Amino acid sequence: MSLAEQMDTVTAGAAGTVDRHATTETFESTNPATGAVVGVFPVHDDSAVQETVERARPAAQRWAELGFDGRRQRLAAYRGYLARRLHELADLVHRENGKPHADAILEITLAIDHLAWAGTHARKTLGERRVRAGMLAANHAAYLEYQPLGVVGVIGPWNYPVFTPMGSIAYALAAGNAVVFKPSEYTPAVGAWLAAAWRAAVPDVADAFQVVTGFGETGAALCRAGVGKLAFTGSAPTGRKVMAACAETLTPVLMELGGKDAMIVDDDADVAAAADAAVWGAMSNAGQTCIGIERVYATAPVYDRFVAEVTERVRGLRPGSDDEAAYGPMTMAAQTDVVKRHLEDATSSGGRAVLGGTVDGGFIPPTVLLDVPESSSAVREETFGPTLTITRVADAEEALARTNATSYGLAGAVFSRSKARAMDLARRMRSGMTSVNSVLTFASIPALPFGGVGESGFGRIHGEDGLKEFTRAKAITRQRYALPVNLMSFTRPPAAADALARVMGMVHGRHR
Ligand code: NAD
Repeated sequence: MSLAEQMDTVTAGAAGTVDRHATTETFESTNPATGAVVGVFPVHDDSAVQETVERARPAAQRWAELGFDGRRQRLAAYRGYLARRLHELADLVHRENGKPHADAILEITLAIDHLAWAGTHARKTLGERRVRAGMLAANHAAYLEYQPLGVVGVIGPWNYPVFTPMGSIAYALAAGNAVVFKPSEYTPAVGAWLAAAWRAAVPDVADAFQVVTGFGETGAALCRAGVGKLAFTGSAPTGRKVMAACAETLTPVLMELGGKDAMIVDDDADVAAAADAAVWGAMSNAGQTCIGIERVYATAPVYDRFVAEVTERVRGLRPGSDDEAAYGPMTMAAQTDVVKRHLEDATSSGGRAVLGGTVDGGFIPPTVLLDVPESSSAVREETFGPTLTITRVADAEEALARTNATSYGLAGAVFSRSKARAMDLARRMRSGMTSVNSVLTFASIPALPFGGVGESGFGRIHGEDGLKEFTRAKAITRQRYALPVNLMSFTRPPAAADALARVMGMVHGRHR
């Protein structure tokens, strides 16, 4: 029996940790394409969440004591397990989130790659090292290491139910923490599957990764449960609530929030390649991608060609839940209303839809909008649907100014054949990540940090920064030999401070 089959009811004992509490209230997760029930899960209350975190504490200690090698081996066993059951998990993602099976495979593949990187780079990034003690403490050895925080809480969204939370879970585990994960109420089966897979692959430290299920209140309970850090991925409004709840206990937070990412297409861009990337960046996953392309600023010399190339490609896209569909339904019905509001605002304020433009049910046709004023919500707010605005600008400088004129700052893309020009634009783009001549690529490079600025959040997952995010830096000094004069002692001679001032004058005083 597959893990997914075992999890169809809350009474199935093998479903991970979700059913080990006296929780009676339940909720269903449903297939957004058909409405069919995917699974029934407990609504974990404050005490169930607290119980889970308390069970994770001794597991965190055991997990930390395993050291980098012990954890690397077990993280490898976990990724091996995921890789062997890739299709099973992809099928569950398809059923619960709605995305095509092939896209689910891509998402899981990325998550596995990050697990591999985090497990194999943890020692080098976090392990004990000696640093130079410097002139004032030359008789000491100085050590730096990055220690785990204990139990880390992870709250995730539904749009990439494997890849997105794994960006926190994999790095938190590799850094030596236990994890309690609260998946979105729209994708609890995927979350429970991931935890059940952990129990199966790493039975000797099974409680190092557990799941609690429920709605916002369950997430809020996790914020207040005394975790060492709370890694949140979701919308900015919820992020504010999470920060407020975490502030009560001074629990540090990592915020991975929404975006309104733009692509700049410069005069010398490969227009066909830019169009291809823009269409994937905007429409794949039904546009429900935090780092999806929602706006394009194309310079006047390439604008018409770019619009023609995009239109031709988008015309061939069809949403659906069959194998040939380009993308699936909106996972969360309420988001359909947001997309509708943005489209209405765009067209009523002077914009026009060259393709799509209507919202009727959960399968939204791909929509390309032109001439939308910058003041429109379709340009200013996160739409999170299969839509793209394309705006003509005089040059790349104007494109950059418009790109940066947003409260968000997650990612973005630049298309130009000039390496120097593209790199300069990428650097000046106010965002955490930028791809040159591609879209979304940074997410697939585990060594690169992932995170935003402004309303897109703060803190970083992935890469060395992502590992350090789930640790505290620990500084240790060890006196190697005593000096004849100890400046930090009441026994120091009165002349010592004057001598020190003279030395400082000689070493630093010449700088003006
Ligand atoms: P959301 O903010 O509605 O919910 C996210 C999670 O928070 C869910 O698990 C939800 O149950 C929980 N939650 C809700 N209220 C809570 C509360 N008061 N306290 C604690 N937890 C609470 O977001 P969503 O609709 O699930 O996801 C879509 C959003 O996520 C988009 O804005 C998208 O851009 C963003 N996102 C960001 C990234 C990133 O890495 N920056 C990645 C994926 C998605």
